[in-house]
Amino acid sequence: MTKRPKAAGDHIESRCTRCKEVTNHIIVAMVEGRVVRVQCNICDGIHNYYPPSTAKPVSTKEAQPRSTSAKAAPREPRAPRNRAAVADAEEWESMVGRGDSESARPYSMERAFKAGELVRHPTFGMGVVKAVLPPAKVEILFQAGRKLLRSGN
Ligand SMILES: [Zn+2]
Repeated sequence: MTKRPKAAGDHIESRCTRCKEVTNHIIVAMVEGRVVRVQCNICDGIHNYYPPSTAKPVSTKEAQPRSTSAKAAPREPRAPRNRAAVADAEEWESMVGRGDSESARPYSMERAFKAGELVRHPTFGMGVVKAVLPPAKVEILFQAGRKLLRSGN
């Protein structure tokens, strides 16, 4: 490498006071071998020479450390609570959810029920009779789950 002392007119990198960046400059003035004044190639501003090395990297490749990954990824919900509950929910959906609630009869503990019958309960809403359990009980599947209720069976 040929080491040629810098001279006025040479190119040099310097921090530019106007651009606030390290830009290419032309040496304007030197004192005792040191660059003292430079002219920015970008803005043509003439200012003292600020060596880029001592600069905090005002410019340059912004090393955006942007954390990719991890935290944003929505994780899969675990296997939903329990299979039976899911199966019940699906069954309820298929039996009741399609909404022919017209045919549902209001629940009453005096009534006798048949399995598969749609019932409307004042608290639990729509349900389907899962099992008739004499004496006087029916198991009804509501959206909230199975309930054992009194019946006229
Ligand atoms: Zn400049």
